[in-house]
Amino acid sequence: MRRSRQLDRPWREECGIFGIIGCADAARYAALGLHALQHRGQEACGIVAYDSVAQAFNNVRRLGYVRDHFTREDVIRHLPGRIALGHVRYATAGRKGDTAIRDVQPLFAEFSQGGVAIAHNGNLTNAQLLRRNLVKQGSIFQSGSDTECIVHLMARSRERDVVGRMKDALRQVEGAFSIVAMTRSKMIGVRDRHGIRPLVLGSLGTGHVFASETCALDIVGADFICEVGRGEMVVVNVDGVRKEQPLPRNSNRFCIFEHVYFSRPDSQHAGTSVYEVRRRIGAELAKESPADADLVCPVPDSGTPAAIGYSQQSNIPFAFGIVRSPFVGRTFIEPTEQIRNMGVRLKLNVNRSLVAGKRLVLVDDSVVRGTTVRKIASMVQEAGAKSVHFRVASPPTQWPCFYGVDTPERGDLLAAQMDPRSMAEFVGVDSLCFVTIDGLYRACGSPQGRGEAERKYCDACFTGDYPIVRADGEQQPSLPMDTSH
Ligand code: 5GP
Ligand code: SF4
Ligand code: MG
Repeated sequence: MRRSRQLDRPWREECGIFGIIGCADAARYAALGLHALQHRGQEACGIVAYDSVAQAFNNVRRLGYVRDHFTREDVIRHLPGRIALGHVRYATAGRKGDTAIRDVQPLFAEFSQGGVAIAHNGNLTNAQLLRRNLVKQGSIFQSGSDTECIVHLMARSRERDVVGRMKDALRQVEGAFSIVAMTRSKMIGVRDRHGIRPLVLGSLGTGHVFASETCALDIVGADFICEVGRGEMVVVNVDGVRKEQPLPRNSNRFCIFEHVYFSRPDSQHAGTSVYEVRRRIGAELAKESPADADLVCPVPDSGTPAAIGYSQQSNIPFAFGIVRSPFVGRTFIEPTEQIRNMGVRLKLNVNRSLVAGKRLVLVDDSVVRGTTVRKIASMVQEAGAKSVHFRVASPPTQWPCFYGVDTPERGDLLAAQMDPRSMAEFVGVDSLCFVTIDGLYRACGSPQGRGEAERKYCDACFTGDYPIVRADGEQQPSLPMDTSH
């Protein structure tokens, strides 16, 4: 889901997908599912549904939050039918308006075999190459999104049916993709060869649901069936569920940042609770980097489970020393440094009476540019904290992600510029420590750490160890910096 890099360096989050087949009022369920996945992208949302009575596809694609559009009866009434596919999209800065609408998913195309809607979470690492070739061959692109390459590859395929065309197209794309496609009678879910981005299948009565996370199954009362496997395609129609393996099943490289930050803590990945992993990361942190302190406080909300784990392991009491306004979205969706700084102030406030005179451990999930830690450190110090020990529930983020999360350039990643000791000085805290990569793997269920892990993850943003070589021309990075502390 990456477009060409823009000068104002927007942050883009992930995307969320929800598809449902075999249930009356499918679009109403899709709206609920997308609402549960709203944390994966707040820029835009869309739903396509097929109305078998009128024999027509209808779609609504809008900028903004799910609740702003799909809670409206006049909008939902426009989407009748028993099959619907929805998507929430990450934030892009400075592109709100007409230019962005054409990129809002699901994308829709009419083939000679009928209409197909496609929703994608991830990033195709050979999209530029594919696009150049497709344009040379006469394809006319409607959007700036990499997902559209799949549509054109399908259109050019010589296979007879949609499923065959999709397999043909997916064999030509590289990178990270969880994709759900919908025709008038089928829903097709597929995951890339390494399973980098999540995708699960559930059942709802006689119907079926595909979703990026299990929390979206829960909201509609669907039962979890399975994760879509690596390189696997799951086709659902009135005859039931059919699984195929059109792509190689490469080594598992599920995105470890899903556990650290992206996923909701009430979701499960590979049978493991995201909340529990985060809590265990906090416990690992307490073992690896103890601190003399009176209180453990999370940077809410993303630091909360790890702070609970730190407190339980260290026996230092837990408290909400920083309180988050429930009415402000995630800080990162704002485009400029200045507004990002504003966002932190709008969003978080210090509980003065709790922190004054105390030695604090503050726990956050990650440090990216360092904006949050700098702000928070000065806020608690202003409120009279005696000392501040910052603990980070992920290793130093030193490398950009090429698989669907548009991270800043290396030069903007604080941990790529300095070691933890210099960082502590720079942000003005008494100590600053990250969990080690082995500690993170232990928290994910590998007792021996990364080297011996049975289940490997993509951890490239921490290690520089990229599972997929990029075909689009940018160099692989050189060796990562020393992250010892
Ligand atoms: P920093 O303030 O250091 O630039 O970023 C760290 C903060 O941003 C953390 O509080 C973390 O919860 C949040 N964060 C980390 N990764 C992402 C992301 O991909 N998207 C968004 N929206 N926030 C992130
Ligand atoms: Fe996830 Fe990081 Fe890998 Fe990107 S580089 S897929 S954020 S682990
Ligand atoms: Mg946060």
